Amino acid sequence: MTASDPGFDPAEFLPDDLLERIRERAPLHDRDNTFPEQDLAELRDAGYLSILVPTERGGAGLGLAEAAILQQRLATAAPATALAINMHLVWTGVAKVFSDRGVPGLEFVQDGAVAGEVFAFGISEGGNDLVLFGSDTDAVPTGDGGYAFTGTKIFTSLAPVWTRLGLHGLDTTSADAPKLVFAFVDRTDAVVTGDDWDTLGMRATQSRTTRLHGATADAAHVVRRIDPGPNPDPIVFGIFSVFEVLLASVYTGIARRALDLAVQTAHTRRSKRSGAAYSQDPDIRWRIADMGLAYDALPPQIAALARDVDERVDHGARWFTLLSGLKHRAITMAKHVVDQAMLVAGGGSYFSSNELSRLYRDVLAGAFHPSDPESAHSTAASAWLGPLEA
Ligand SMILES: Cc1cc2nc3c(=O)[nH]c(=O)nc-3n(C[C@H](O)[C@H](O)[C@H](O)COP(=O)(O)OP(=O)(O)OC[C@H]3O[C@@H](n4cnc5c(N)ncnc54)[C@H](O)[C@@H]3O)c2cc1C
Repeated sequence: MTASDPGFDPAEFLPDDLLERIRERAPLHDRDNTFPEQDLAELRDAGYLSILVPTERGGAGLGLAEAAILQQRLATAAPATALAINMHLVWTGVAKVFSDRGVPGLEFVQDGAVAGEVFAFGISEGGNDLVLFGSDTDAVPTGDGGYAFTGTKIFTSLAPVWTRLGLHGLDTTSADAPKLVFAFVDRTDAVVTGDDWDTLGMRATQSRTTRLHGATADAAHVVRRIDPGPNPDPIVFGIFSVFEVLLASVYTGIARRALDLAVQTAHTRRSKRSGAAYSQDPDIRWRIADMGLAYDALPPQIAALARDVDERVDHGARWFTLLSGLKHRAITMAKHVVDQAMLVAGGGSYFSSNELSRLYRDVLAGAFHPSDPESAHSTAASAWLGPLEA
């Protein structure tokens, strides 16, 4: 099934009534700074955790293109729920990149997702602007093919609920060191989740700090050992491609919701001066049009690049600027659209109880995810101008 397949109906995987319940709970989790346990339970029951798992392993067999549409839809209801689930979908998406290309090693992620496991994404570390290409976490061989990880991961979404954490660390002691090790650890006493998530927005993601004190991954859950630095390994392409596409989807979903709310308000607010609805005001019409023009560019871009990942199109080195550019355009567009929506809605949107004020806070998180604006620009500059001369 593909997103362009008329047989693909997003409501089959995310029914309207489920979406409405998630939407109703979103302000409560934002206000109380709590993880949306019920959203997760209902999404799990609906099979959402295994949408990217092939049907022969018990999943829905969707591609990245369909998952991207679903994540846009989920983000219109609850951006933080969508962003948190994104991290689990990233790992199942990387598993799909592997299996589509005949690379073994992540079948346990697919089987785990079908069994209801929740995979978190433990990549970010304080001050590690190398992101995927380096790590300050120690990965020490246990002697039987496994590794023990010690270090601190920051912003671990799904913190209260994950069952397995996919992470990376640096092996500096093996004969062929240094090697970056990608692996999955279980939730044991060697993993300590902080209680430090009190943020401006995306509060329900509960992306708390994770301290690893020799957390072990056995040999079966060590996925890759690669050279640090830029690397053509499928783990790097898999994470990069799925992460950027799904992240762009979440923020594009936020923009869609802001646009819909702005349109609703424009129809209901009336001008005392003219007696007409604001939808008849030329300035408001221009603003809504401006939002629509910006928003309309993103869903087709997401669909095209997601399809290229699904169909194994080889963009070579261009992939990196295409993907980081997509994420950059999505978050820039979304911030612009939410800004405009606040202006259309007027002072009411400044109240905490107004959904737009939450979207306004949530959308700001977009710039911090990789690829951040600096990284997206340096990737694009290198693609067009060549690397910086030493
Ligand atoms: C809502 C949200 C959810 C996220 N979910 C995930 C997730 O699930 N998994 C994941 O891997 N990433 C996640 N991220 C992380 C994100 O992608 C970025 O890595 C993160 O925002 C850090 O950005 P930064 O490097 O600009 O932050 P910075 O401000 O540079 O650093 C973040 C923290 O690290 C500290 N720090 C900075 N420099 C150093 C240093 N040199 N030494 C020690 N500490 C330092 C800072 O004090 C700060 O507390 C999430 C981000 C957000 C906003």
